[in-house]
Amino acid sequence: MRADSGHLEVRGHLVLDDAVAPGRLTIEDGRIAAVDIDDEAGKGAEALPYVAPGFVDVHVHGWGGHDAMGSTDDLDGMARVLLQHGVTSFLPTGVTNPLPVIRAFADRVRAWIPCAPADGAEPLGFNIEGPFISPARRGAHNPAYLMTPAEVRWAEIEPLVEGLRLTTIAPEIPGGLELITRMQALGVRVSIGHSAADLDTAIAGYDAGGTSTTHLFNAMTGIDHRAPGVAVAALTRDDAFVELIADEQHVHPALWPIIWRTKPAGRLLLVSDALSLAGAGDGRLSIGGLEVDVKGDRCTLADGSGTLAGSVIALDTAVRNMTHHGAALPVAVAAASRNPLALLGVTDRGRIAVGQRADLVELDDDVRVRRVMRGGDWLTAGS
Ligand SMILES: [Zn+2]
Repeated sequence: MRADSGHLEVRGHLVLDDAVAPGRLTIEDGRIAAVDIDDEAGKGAEALPYVAPGFVDVHVHGWGGHDAMGSTDDLDGMARVLLQHGVTSFLPTGVTNPLPVIRAFADRVRAWIPCAPADGAEPLGFNIEGPFISPARRGAHNPAYLMTPAEVRWAEIEPLVEGLRLTTIAPEIPGGLELITRMQALGVRVSIGHSAADLDTAIAGYDAGGTSTTHLFNAMTGIDHRAPGVAVAALTRDDAFVELIADEQHVHPALWPIIWRTKPAGRLLLVSDALSLAGAGDGRLSIGGLEVDVKGDRCTLADGSGTLAGSVIALDTAVRNMTHHGAALPVAVAAASRNPLALLGVTDRGRIAVGQRADLVELDDDVRVRRVMRGGDWLTAGS
């Protein structure tokens, strides 16, 4: 609800770039007009919430029973349910499918973006994961639909580009490096992943224009001390962003500090990689023509291989998990807000600072979402 004057105040423990401080935000016309730090503000009897920038999920395949590759009603539903979890901006993310199916997804999201619901997370474009990935590290992508750039005419790929903000490419497949360079030149961010590359080929992928890394450690060559792979290139290149699925399933939490101690501040991205059944209970779903079972907090291919197929978390859980495993709150919050926006080159939101869009999430002392503001309007009821 917008205050009549278009002016409101938000009090809390403000999650700033590198610190948390009690204070007050003044919101005017949907933007942060003033940030006042007030050490006395935190001393009242009433427990103040944390106030953080809204979360941004650049890798999310669905939520709450809604599939990003489904209908525009699904996109509406997904945007609205993500917002309840503090996600104020996102990229609906498609998976490996026949190219006409991926083109239809791209067309549908493009047509939907101008009429996306104001009470949902805002789409910033879309992400496509596959089909130009390695069969050896395909994870839960359908092997029948994998392709190499060398065997596909550019005229079949070009219709995907408008609105495409992020895509995963394995650098070692035929034509992979050329496609990375071409996409990067067109303004699409390329994420290295689903890759069996050795160290040198992974480095060549970043040199060719790769700027991020799809779910670090999952579906890639890892840290073998005699055969270092993509994970080593991703961790040791200061300019490379890395995604982490912090659901405690995809990467053991014992490894998480290796990431945040190794990567420069600003290069870690929390992503959900959530599937449509996230938040909708146990069951079976189909993704890219493969059957996936959701049981508790694990999603695995139904073929008995045990291959993880995505998560059932949203970024609120990822941020909370990070703090439970020792990350400072500003580090965890930046990984879910400012950093993914930096990857996309979006600078008008994602920080508690004057002039920024008032996309905010109020969190309790265990980092659970209380309410969410998008563009200066509180959009979910407080709990
Ligand atoms: Zn994914």
